[in-house]
Amino acid sequence: MISEQSGPGPDGIIGQIGREILQRERFILTSHARPDGDSIGSQLAMAFALDALGKQVRIVNADPAPEHYQDFPGMERIEIASRVTARPDETVIVMECSDLARTGVEGLESQFIINIDHHAGNRLYGALNWYDESAAACAEMVFDLIRTMGVPLDLEIGTHIYLGILTDTGSFHHSNITPRTFDICRQAVEAGVNPATMARRVFDSNSFGKLKLIGALLDSMELVDEGRLAVLYMDDQMLAACGCTPNDTEGLINLPLTAREIQAVVFFKVSSDDLLRVSMRSKYDVDVRKVANQFGGGGHKNAAGFTVEGRLANVRASIIERLIGAIAEGLQTRPTA
Ligand code: AMP
Ligand code: MN
Repeated sequence: MISEQSGPGPDGIIGQIGREILQRERFILTSHARPDGDSIGSQLAMAFALDALGKQVRIVNADPAPEHYQDFPGMERIEIASRVTARPDETVIVMECSDLARTGVEGLESQFIINIDHHAGNRLYGALNWYDESAAACAEMVFDLIRTMGVPLDLEIGTHIYLGILTDTGSFHHSNITPRTFDICRQAVEAGVNPATMARRVFDSNSFGKLKLIGALLDSMELVDEGRLAVLYMDDQMLAACGCTPNDTEGLINLPLTAREIQAVVFFKVSSDDLLRVSMRSKYDVDVRKVANQFGGGGHKNAAGFTVEGRLANVRASIIERLIGAIAEGLQTRPTA
């Protein structure tokens, strides 16, 4: 097993992955269940790059992408399946997954796996593992790999790289943005990507039902810790009353952060399968990943999540207590510039 945490370099892991891909012919691309913009962008940028290299590519995801991603180029190529029967010569490239189970796709375990990810605590489940916590989006890493393999950035690839970065940085709000992030975006714009169109397509494409859901969520929002922490609740009845599906909830968690005082948000999604999905977002140095880790989840400093079995009432207090602790700790080092 070959792996590297950071510092790709042409002779390092990125060069090895590039050489391995160039030698191979058939690929299955996948990412995490309930895909977001970075999983879609990373996979499709990779797919178009592999097309350019004359490779055979299929993309398999456990769940369909949210509606507002459906008319991005190549979306019709994504097969939805929870199990694949892979040929022995199919190489699997997993993007955005800290462990293989996050794909929600079975049948990949015995294939040659290339693991490309930017989540802390990646389990190094591939034959080749490249994870770089410093990347603002997995799409940044995919960009590097594509360029290492000599594929030019065309409009389709640029669109998907930009999509991954735009969404995974929380539209340029999160604290993991570097000059590199903008350098890659600059190159995407030079390839023809229109930032205004991208922002409208991703953030201003809500259904009326989603607007209703925003109203319902904010109506039932609770403020704790003297208004520093917002708590959002959602269940299947609320979704149904607004004519929404779970896919319509993407991005809603960011709404409370637009209030100056609010430093973190926790979003409890209660579903009929008795699973409680918990999403968290924060500002500046408030580290919600640490809280997610305590409950078996993961993510990034400003965006993290986890899933627990059982009833909200049993875990609510301890989650909120830990978040209040994370806020107190994070506020000590709030940047002034
Ligand atoms: P979400 O709130 O679902 O948009 O997720 C925010 C971040 O937390 C993403 O980077 C996810 O990959 C990560 N995350 C969410 N749920 C889990 C989980 N159950 N296990 C590990 N990471 C998670
Ligand atoms: Mn990501």
